[in-house]
Amino acid sequence: MCLTHFHGDHCLGVPGIVPRMSLDGVASAVAHYPATGARYFDRLRHASVFHATTELAEQPVERDGRITSGPFGELWARRLDHPVGGVRIPAR
Ligand SMILES: [Zn+2]
Repeated sequence: MCLTHFHGDHCLGVPGIVPRMSLDGVASAVAHYPATGARYFDRLRHASVFHATTELAEQPVERDGRITSGPFGELWARRLDHPVGGVRIPAR
C-alpha cells in the first residue's frame, strides 16, 4: 500500500482496505506513507472494529529516494509540490 499524501481522495480507502486484507487471508503487507502523516495513518488503519490477521508493516517515508524493489520493479519517493495540511511543500 502506497499513500502519496493524506488528502481524503488519496487515503480514505485505507479503512476499507486494511480490514479487507484480513478477510481475504492476506498474511502480510507493507504500507508506505509520508512520515509526517503517521498520526493520520494510525487513525485510518484503526478506524473500525475488525479481527486483524494481516501483519501490516508500516514503513513511513522520511526522505526522497528509493524505498524498495521487487518483482514489480522499484518504488521511489519524491517530495510533492502540492499543498498538504495548509502548508505548501516546495519541490526540490
Ligand atoms: Zn492532494
